[in-house]
Amino acid sequence: MLQPDRMVSTTCPYCGVGCTLQLHLKNDFIYKVTSPFDSPVNHGNLCVKGRFGYDYIYSPRRVTAPLIRQTPQRPGARTQAFDRSEWREVSWDEALDYTADRLVEIYRRDGSDAMAVYCCAKATNEDNYLLQKMYRALFRTNNVDHCTRLCHAGSVTALIKALGTSAMSNTAAEVIHSDVFIVTGSNTTENHPIIALHMKEAIQKHGAKLIVIVPRRIELCDYATLFLP
Ligand code: SF4
Repeated sequence: MLQPDRMVSTTCPYCGVGCTLQLHLKNDFIYKVTSPFDSPVNHGNLCVKGRFGYDYIYSPRRVTAPLIRQTPQRPGARTQAFDRSEWREVSWDEALDYTADRLVEIYRRDGSDAMAVYCCAKATNEDNYLLQKMYRALFRTNNVDHCTRLCHAGSVTALIKALGTSAMSNTAAEVIHSDVFIVTGSNTTENHPIIALHMKEAIQKHGAKLIVIVPRRIELCDYATLFLP
């Protein structure tokens, strides 16, 4: 059997469950992905994305260095540039200088209302904090948004009304100890497969109850005490 030169522990980049991954490397090539059984979130389980979805790493089309357009866009123009020949590869220093110069140029020319930033759920809390700070303190704008506001808008409202806070109230590892689950507006098996696995285990091994409230039949309905379409 193939023996790895080294193993790298990391976190799955795909969904918010954040399963622990162990990358098996031979000659700097990832040939297998597993997960340790003592990982607190996924207990050694991985879904198909975390286990097999890493071939993109070696795609020749992958962007591995900063790119700057050969022909800059004119203000107000929105032209697409899908061909690689329309871009030139640059160093990180040049890319960061270019970005900083362009932001300052836009701010000086058009003012605070022309500035906006869209933060990322995949970035760390610290990175997102710094980004909003830069826009509020430096560019004097509150045009700060985050992808989580859109995809979690429904759950944020419901959680604030029910619990007074919009954050998750328990850890993923605690799901398996729940007595009752209500799933609404989610196809958990596809969106967060390992959480769905914990729910099924709680239902089958510990007698937990599941209520599913979604307009179409999803896989979890097979485990539900109540399905309310
Ligand atoms: S459930 Fe699947 S996609 Fe989500 S973090 Fe775990 S392995 Fe990755």
